[in-house]
Amino acid sequence: MLGLMQQWPLLCHKIIDFAARQHGHREIVSRSVEGPVVRTTYAALHKRARQVAQRLERDGFVAGDRIATLAWNSARHMECWYGAMGMGGVYHTLNPRLFPHQIAWIMNDAEDKLIFVDLTFMPLIEKIAPGVPSLKKIVVLTDAAHMPETALPNVVPYEEWIAEADGDFVWREFEENTAAGMCYTSGTTGEPKGVVYSHRSNVLHAMMAAMPDAMGISSRDVVLPVVPMFHANAWGLAQSAPMVGAKMVMPGGKMDGASIYELLETEKVTFSAAVPTIWLMLLQYLEETGKELPHLTRVVIGGSACPRVITQKFRENYGVEVIHAWGMTEMSPLGSLCSLKPEVQDLSGDALFDIKQKQGFAPFGVEMKVTDDENGERPWDGKTFGRLKVRGPAVARSYYRGAGAEQFDEDGWFDTGDVAHIDANGYMQITDRAKDVIKSGGEWISTIELENVAVGHPEVAEAAAIGLPHPKWDERPLLVVVRKPDKTVGKEEILSYMEGKVAKWWLPDDVVFVDEIPHTAAGKILKTKLREQFKDHHLPTA
Ligand code: AMP
Repeated sequence: MLGLMQQWPLLCHKIIDFAARQHGHREIVSRSVEGPVVRTTYAALHKRARQVAQRLERDGFVAGDRIATLAWNSARHMECWYGAMGMGGVYHTLNPRLFPHQIAWIMNDAEDKLIFVDLTFMPLIEKIAPGVPSLKKIVVLTDAAHMPETALPNVVPYEEWIAEADGDFVWREFEENTAAGMCYTSGTTGEPKGVVYSHRSNVLHAMMAAMPDAMGISSRDVVLPVVPMFHANAWGLAQSAPMVGAKMVMPGGKMDGASIYELLETEKVTFSAAVPTIWLMLLQYLEETGKELPHLTRVVIGGSACPRVITQKFRENYGVEVIHAWGMTEMSPLGSLCSLKPEVQDLSGDALFDIKQKQGFAPFGVEMKVTDDENGERPWDGKTFGRLKVRGPAVARSYYRGAGAEQFDEDGWFDTGDVAHIDANGYMQITDRAKDVIKSGGEWISTIELENVAVGHPEVAEAAAIGLPHPKWDERPLLVVVRKPDKTVGKEEILSYMEGKVAKWWLPDDVVFVDEIPHTAAGKILKTKLREQFKDHHLPTA
């Protein structure tokens, strides 16, 4: 027997229809690339998105075409997303922090037909476009007055281009599993892999993200997504904020402490989301200037592990709650968020921060388990760690063109490549990347935990742990350390500092000092390069 309820396909443009109808006057404030802070509303954005859709069709673009964006967070960028999706196109965000040859590779793999590009990235697209034969048009997100000189063909200014359409456009009808967007993972090994979101997965993800124990946003919030739309969909905020009718504040390309503070203060932002680096810059700015955060109540922090000191300072000095979150491009991207269940909400002091240090629990729509190498499920005891696997309606079931098939199993679980444990209350904590975890005598050593303990030493600026081959134990840890300026801490001091803070057999077999640790475009430690650099290092215990 089938249910007799209506078929109402979950399509992304219904989100912007809703925002325009129910919250039409709500503002979207953007720091423009041209300079000034500009303001629009959901009603205006809705109209301009339809102008984009109309103009795309008039130029001959059709459903299924990949429409790339190389742009900061702004209302214009959102219009392009909704306009592309509403005519059946597929928005494709590109990360400008990658090397030009990587971006060109990704654009060719996706066969992008048109690109919306911010003024900032004109020099970049000039390098890339000649090597992307599928590209038919370049729309620069500015007006004719600000157009730069360029030798590239088929380049037009956005404002004049959409002005030729009146916005009298009816969204195209299609099935909810139709592709809506694309984003490539910037893996540290191999070629990047394409993730293809559907309308249905985006809508469900946006609902899941907005729930009270997830981001918990409402029409009374003012939301500042610092996390870029090109990094895992701005964690869904370009969809969940209009879905709840929250005012939005878009930072454009300026993400230093002073610029972010200015927006937080003048726009009375209540909720924000970004990677730890951004918050370190903001906290430093606050400490230098003595300024306060009277409006901000919550920040979501993820992308890499959130240092305890950030959570502590926000709470104790500024009354702001940090919600630690974990996710991946492949998960749209949210996988878990650390809000407080009744079981832990009355904790205080270190016990509370121990919980808030975890990456949190999976919301409805994400199933999670940890397994050993043979796919045997490990207990939720808060200490036994294993491979973290997930499934759900906003989790990838395959990469574009079938790449990376080994990460998906026949039961529909996706192997995240992360290593984690889950406690009895369901709180998950990442302990490593699977390819970085150190396997010593059949047991696993968490490199993240070694690094976290090591950076607690007052003279250590940054630390990275890698496994080196060992004749007896298979692998043993080497700790690579960058000292703070003018500091002289040595190996023995670091090892005795770490003693008692990690299991004895986890202590590194050796400590080396370097001026710099290599990082990826996303700011993560480049362990492959470190392993290469130290492959001939002789451990004193070997
Ligand atoms: P990306 O797809 O570029 O967002 O990268 C996803 C990866 O970032 C995850 O698989 C994790 O390894 C890492 N990651 C994301 N959030 C966190 C977090 N809160 N703590 C530790 N690692 C994280």
